[in-house]
Amino acid sequence: MVTQLAPETDIAGNLAVVKARIAAAAEAAGRSPDEVTLVAVGKAHPAGHVRRALEAGHRDFGENRVDEAEAKWPELRAAYPDVRLHLIGPLQRNKVRRALELFDAIESVDRPRLARALAEEMERSGHRADCFIQVNTGEEPQKSGIHPADADEFIGACRDDLGLPVRGLMCIPPQDDEPSLHFALLREIARRNGLGDLSMGMTADFDVAVRFGATHVRVGTALFGPRPPFNRDRG
Ligand SMILES: *Cc1c(COP(=O)(O)O)cnc(C)c1O
Repeated sequence: MVTQLAPETDIAGNLAVVKARIAAAAEAAGRSPDEVTLVAVGKAHPAGHVRRALEAGHRDFGENRVDEAEAKWPELRAAYPDVRLHLIGPLQRNKVRRALELFDAIESVDRPRLARALAEEMERSGHRADCFIQVNTGEEPQKSGIHPADADEFIGACRDDLGLPVRGLMCIPPQDDEPSLHFALLREIARRNGLGDLSMGMTADFDVAVRFGATHVRVGTALFGPRPPFNRDRG
């Protein structure tokens, strides 16, 4: 990993700005800012960046790769035991055990075989993590996530057949689409399935996501600055 710290990045200041924007968007939509959790996405940034957010009092973080999180987080977690860590990237079945040892939430439950593996490992180990079903709202072939037409059945299977603690849904809208259409679709799927949590919105569109009901926004660049290019689009 490239470990160039950018000391000029004012992470505490960025946190304050992003939180103020979340509060403004929530209030504009008649919601309480407390309903929205800012998940700070530290992927591809060194532990030093993340530590500065921890020192500023932040506790909710996202990582997109199990290996990277394992390299970065055990030490930080020991220093800040009340951290809540979200896995937001694709999860391979052979990493399910390690993922459940490290993460408090898995936001990328996207296929039946992974759902089964998670259920079996939760049963075996007693490590449970909040699950979000990832929905491929843009039906993009290169992107993971369950198709909207299959979502109701998959959510039902995860909850009722496998007993997974399904809290909500997650989506990553297509790059060049109007994100609000995707946020509205995700909200509708959650509503008709009685799910309370919506993880949607990133640096480019988190204000819009909050207006459309996001309970979790996943923000990286606006907090930590640009990622090293080799890792920018992974996950
Ligand atoms: C990288 C990533 C983010 C954060 O993206 P930014 O545009 O840097 O805010 C959010 N969600 C997922 C799934 C990601 O992989």
